Amino acid sequence: MDEQWIIDKIKAAGLKLTRPRMLVIEVLRQNKNGFISADEIFNLINHKEKVCDLTSIYRTLTSLEEIQLVEKSDFFGEASQYRLLSHQDHYHHHHHYFKCNECGKIEVLCGDCNVVQYENDLKKRGFSNLSHRLELSGLCPSCNK
Ligand SMILES: [Zn+2]
Ligand SMILES: [Zn+2]
Repeated sequence: MDEQWIIDKIKAAGLKLTRPRMLVIEVLRQNKNGFISADEIFNLINHKEKVCDLTSIYRTLTSLEEIQLVEKSDFFGEASQYRLLSHQDHYHHHHHYFKCNECGKIEVLCGDCNVVQYENDLKKRGFSNLSHRLELSGLCPSCNK
């Protein structure tokens, strides 16, 4: 693995670089900015020989989520999907997604979230524990042809 910062982050959190952990990270890395489900990770890792079971993949994903290397998203009530956070994401952690109704493609939306402004206004007026969900869907350019 060439991304040393990932290894540093795992070690700094006191986690071991176990085989399942390395394999899961490798699959997530190859999946770049997209989201992938635990089942898909399981199939990719075990397609040649049985290396680890689904339970240890879930456990690995949870541990990586806890140290903020992995982001878990529940889209529109579907099964959880996972994405490796990039170095940059750590500075702009809050973002939203677009999902194509046709092909299921998910796009991470860049730029600042305007809803945060509403939250800040509410905070000033004494509201607390604010959070929001924004679901953007439609047709992606390739499905729009
Ligand atoms: Zn599409
Ligand atoms: Zn937002």
